[in-house]
Amino acid sequence: MKRGGHPGGPEASPVRKIAPDELDELTPPRPLLRRPCGKKGCRGTARPGGRYCRPCATEAVRRWRDRHATAIAERERARQFSEDQQLIRNARAYVAEYLKRGKLWKDPCEICGKRDVLAAWDDPGKPQAVRWLCSEHYAERREAKRDVQEARVAIAGEWAEVRRQLLLLPTEVQREVHEAALRGPAGQGVRPESVFYWWTLRRELNRYADRVNSGGFWG
Ligand SMILES: [Zn+2]
Ligand SMILES: [Zn+2]
Repeated sequence: MKRGGHPGGPEASPVRKIAPDELDELTPPRPLLRRPCGKKGCRGTARPGGRYCRPCATEAVRRWRDRHATAIAERERARQFSEDQQLIRNARAYVAEYLKRGKLWKDPCEICGKRDVLAAWDDPGKPQAVRWLCSEHYAERREAKRDVQEARVAIAGEWAEVRRQLLLLPTEVQREVHEAALRGPAGQGVRPESVFYWWTLRRELNRYADRVNSGGFWG
């Protein structure tokens, strides 16, 4: 028998090979040994990957925060917020204060009527115009706002492409297309850089491309 070999040969190894499609059904490994909480006198079990049991860990974080309260407050003050974030923060503070003073009440979710609600604003610059939504409808609304934002970015990208194409053309064609775009889709005149301007510009660029492709533009 070979050294290190198993009595029944290599096939009888007690470690069974796992088929790849079995992997999904396996439960995650559990720590075999119970590690006691690192806090003196506590008889709890340490959290996986941590030194303390959950209550002791929470307590340790709280004490750490208390000890470093000044530094934490300092850092919070120094944090930079975008204008939008700052508006939202101000609106939240405003609403929190008014709730505390009893001058404002939470309404049920305006969509489903659940009582557990979050504050939302169409215009955070008007904090008194608060809307109340449950967490589900709050998340839904945020999702919708993100879609609108993405659409805006996509349109901006499209206009950037139109601008790039415009700049590839001879100067006199650029001027001609620009002037046609300024007359607008119905000839009523539009503001430069407005959506109508870019929309008409794209149409004029396409017309120009058609003329060039059909050989009719430069004769
Ligand atoms: Zn503990
Ligand atoms: Zn709701």
